[in-house]
Amino acid sequence: MTEEGAGALPVEGVPAPRVLDEIRALRAADRPTHGGRLFAYVYDPGVAGLDELAQAAYAESAHVNGLDPTAFPSLLAMENALVAAAARLLGGGPGTAAPAVVGSVTGGGTESLMLAVKAARDARPDLTEPRIVVPVSGHAAFAKAAHYLRVALDPVPVDPVTLRPSPADVAAAIRPETVLVAASAPSYAHGVVDPVAEIAAVAAAAGVRCHVDACFGGWTLPWLRRLGAPVPPFDFAVDGVTSISVDLHKYAYAPKGVSVLLHRDPALRAPQYFAYADWPGYTMVNPVIASTRSGGPIAAAYATLRHLGEDGYLRLAALTRDAVAGLADAVRAVAGLRLLAEPESTVVCFTSDDPGLDLFVLVDDLTARGWHTQPQLAYAGLPASVHLTVTAAVAPRVAEFGPALAEAVAAARAAGPVELPAELRALAGSLTPEALTPELVAGLAAGLGLGAGPATERMAAVNALLDAAPVRLRERLLVEFVGLLQHPSW
Ligand SMILES: *Cc1c(COP(=O)(O)O)cnc(C)c1O
Repeated sequence: MTEEGAGALPVEGVPAPRVLDEIRALRAADRPTHGGRLFAYVYDPGVAGLDELAQAAYAESAHVNGLDPTAFPSLLAMENALVAAAARLLGGGPGTAAPAVVGSVTGGGTESLMLAVKAARDARPDLTEPRIVVPVSGHAAFAKAAHYLRVALDPVPVDPVTLRPSPADVAAAIRPETVLVAASAPSYAHGVVDPVAEIAAVAAAAGVRCHVDACFGGWTLPWLRRLGAPVPPFDFAVDGVTSISVDLHKYAYAPKGVSVLLHRDPALRAPQYFAYADWPGYTMVNPVIASTRSGGPIAAAYATLRHLGEDGYLRLAALTRDAVAGLADAVRAVAGLRLLAEPESTVVCFTSDDPGLDLFVLVDDLTARGWHTQPQLAYAGLPASVHLTVTAAVAPRVAEFGPALAEAVAAARAAGPVELPAELRALAGSLTPEALTPELVAGLAAGLGLGAGPATERMAAVNALLDAAPVRLRERLLVEFVGLLQHPSW
C-alpha cells in the first residue's frame, strides 16, 4: 500500500488518477472479463462501444435511489420498460395468453428466485410448514431461498441421461403444504430445458404456483427459437406457469445487478411486496429485498437493451449458437471426453470417461493456457463435469479452442490424476461437518498450497478434496475456506 496510509481510508486523500491506477493494478490479477476465454461469471457480447454506453448510463443514475419511485420517476419509467420488454419476450403482454403480466426489477437471479418463493409462501399464511418442489438440477438459489425463508425443500431427482426431472416424480413430490414448483429453462449446470409444459400442468392440477427459472436462458431461448432451434414451450404461453425470472446481467449483456421477476397477474405478485407503517419514519414499501438501491444498474440495462435491440440480440444469439456448435465439436474430437448433454442452449458441459484424464487437472491445464472453464463436482450419481457458459464473444475464439483443448488434455494425461494424500482422502470421507474446526481447515488449506490467498492457477487438489467429501462436508469446507480469504487487510 501507499505512504499516505494503508488500505481504503488513508490519512490523507489520494489524487484521483492514482486511485484509478491502484484499482487497475488490483484488477490485473482478475480473470479476463472480455475476450471470449472466460466461460463463467461474465457475459460478453464483444460489441464495440457497448461498455462505454453502459458505463455512461450507469454514471447518470448511480446516485438515484430506487427506494421511492415517486421521488425518482426516471427509474420507475426505466424499470417499467425493462419489465415490459422481458414480459413480451417471454410470452406476456397485450394480445398474449398472459395479458395482465406484471413484474419487478431485482438485483439478480438469486433475489428474483427468493422473491418468487416469498410470494408463494406468503400467499398461503394458513400453512405452518410451507414447502417447495425443486428438481436437483434447479439452481442452488432455490435452496438459499428455502433456507432464508424457512421453507422446506423437496428435491426431485433428474434422469442420469436426459438430466431432466420426470413430471411424474414432480407430481409425486407435491404435498398439501407445497406452495411452489420450480422448473429450469435451462438448468445452469447442464444447459438442459426441463419439461416445463408437463411440470406446469401437474402444478396447476394441484393448485400450486409454478416458477420457471429462466435466469440463464430467458434472454437466449426466444432468439434461438426465432433462428429455428427446436426450443420447447417454457414461457407464459404455457398454462400453469405463474412466474418467470430472467437475468438481464446474463444474456441481455447488461452490467451486473439486474434481473426481472415476472408474475402472470398482479394478485400473484402482491405477496411479494413488503410494506411497513408501524414506525415513526417514512412509510416504507419495498417490492424487492433491497430498500435503498442504485439506479446505475437499471439505467445501464435500459441503455444496453435500447442500443442492441431485437436485431442485435438475434445476431448475438446466432454467433453464440455457432460458437456452441464449434466448442461441442472440439469436445467430441477428444477421445476420453464426452458431452454430458447435447447442447440445446448456450452451455457446453462435458465429462471424462478416461480414469487417466482427471477433469480437475484438465481445468487447471486449460487455465494455464488462458482458457477459464468451470469445474462441477460429482453429485448424486452424476459424474464431475466441466461447464462452459458460451457468449457471443467466444465466436472468434472457437477455432483456437480445439487445439488448446487437445494440448491441455495431453498435459493432463501426462500429469495424471490428482493423488490426494491417503490421510486427506480418508479425512474427507470420514470427517463430520461438526468436527471441522477453523484450525483444521487452515491446516488443510496450507497442505493444499492455498496459503493465505486464493491459488487460482492450480485448484485440482482442492476440487479433488471437495469431490471426495459428502455434500454437507463440502459446504462446511467451502464456508471455512472463504472465511479464511475474507479477513480485514490491516
Ligand atoms: C445465474 C442463475 C441464477 C442466480 O442468479 P444470480 O444472478 O447469480 O444471483 C439462478 N438460476 C439460474 C438458472 C442461473 O443461471
